[in-house]
Amino acid sequence: MIDIKSLTIEKAHESLQKGEYSCKELAEIYLKNILEKNKEINAYLEVFDDVLEQAEIAQKMFSDGSATLLTGIPFAIKDIILIKGKKASAASKILENYVASYDSTVIKDLKKEGAVFLGRTNMDEFAMGSSSQTSAYGVTRNPLDLSRVPGGSSGGSAAALAGNMSLAALGTETCGSVREPAAFCGLVGLRTTYGAISRNGIIPMGNSLDQVGPFGKNVRDVEIIFNSLSRYDKEDSTSVPMELRNVDSRKDCKKIGVPWHLFEDGVDKEVGDNFKQSIEKLKSIGYEIVDIELPYSKYSLAAYYIIMPAEVSTNLSRFDGMRYGFSHDGKDLAEVYKKSRGEGFGKEARRRILLGTYVLSHGYYDAYYNKAIKVREKIKEEIVNTFKKVDFILTPTVPITAFKIGEKMDDPVAMYLCDIFSAPANLTGVPSIALPSGFNKEGLPFSIQFMAPHFREDLLFKVGKDLENLK
Ligand code: GLN
Repeated sequence: MIDIKSLTIEKAHESLQKGEYSCKELAEIYLKNILEKNKEINAYLEVFDDVLEQAEIAQKMFSDGSATLLTGIPFAIKDIILIKGKKASAASKILENYVASYDSTVIKDLKKEGAVFLGRTNMDEFAMGSSSQTSAYGVTRNPLDLSRVPGGSSGGSAAALAGNMSLAALGTETCGSVREPAAFCGLVGLRTTYGAISRNGIIPMGNSLDQVGPFGKNVRDVEIIFNSLSRYDKEDSTSVPMELRNVDSRKDCKKIGVPWHLFEDGVDKEVGDNFKQSIEKLKSIGYEIVDIELPYSKYSLAAYYIIMPAEVSTNLSRFDGMRYGFSHDGKDLAEVYKKSRGEGFGKEARRRILLGTYVLSHGYYDAYYNKAIKVREKIKEEIVNTFKKVDFILTPTVPITAFKIGEKMDDPVAMYLCDIFSAPANLTGVPSIALPSGFNKEGLPFSIQFMAPHFREDLLFKVGKDLENLK
């Protein structure tokens, strides 16, 4: 019997290597679990019909000695990441029947290693949301409490992993979409440095912010996936060449800055208390905690909710009902556009297209978009300068714990506030890791988040492992 609850990538690899079970047997266990649980949780929009064939290919890599740590590892893949020959809908009606014609670079890399893709996971439509409730295909439930959301937008990937319906999972982040669901589902989630992992073949939301990010049950799993995907890719013009990644060479990193002023208000008391306990733990293992001020970062969310919709409105203009995707008849071209887009996009997508078009329009461009870009530069400068004084920046991951399904849907601003601690990393492009930090009385997970200098994911893994070893 395989105990999948405590299974990790390394443990599974060891067993597959020793032949204790086969890649097919491992995949079958997950498929069985999906069959039992997915109806209720709705983590997967589709379970692939070739999982066992993929497992057989992986098995051959063990026989011919070419297996790596990810060979045979069953993955859940967010429905925004293209896999050749499979549907990729971004959980939108407008892409309901879209079939990808090529593999994204991350999928190509994972295929080379013989990873097994179980299926594509639910998400907020076009990755816009913090609860996976804006999907055109129903909400995903949090496996830890079925009355609550798993977070978003990569909620399906997080729920698949937390519900033992996969052993590893990929999500994407534009602003918190890996870290927030990781926090709500008790997982480790990584937002990678902008330019570290290829965005080729990822349906874009905000090009200057998007990054692929792994989920894992522990830090090591996330590290394994990151190491396998982090590389230069000429197919992505924003991919950073390897020789430009060694910009920061600090060692022996123990100094953590805490911007207390950013979370004086608006953080749930129990989240604040848990955060303080985490600080004590860090002190007990030799980390130094210092106060820092990030005066510009308090405008992160405001800047993000201008820059992101601007990029969204541009990106989503390609869905016109003519080239591909959902199309509605009309008496002329304008009516086809109007009806296809009006019915193909959900409410949140339409809201952001409107906002984005507005902030980019003549007369408002300078007042909104241009100003937000300037604020973003100030925030970047501030964060980069802060990393001259400290090695990490620490905050709670989210100001609250997983909320009830149905909540915040009528109040977009309340939903956007979930991203308050996520935005600085995405606007700046630095990496950030969300780490589980205990549970509240109802059994809902808490989470803390570290940011590190550009391309220093290794520091995040180190501090994450130090905390894990303490448990
Ligand atoms: N909560 C963020 C938003 O709604 C999520 C974006 C993301 O990271 N994909 O914009």
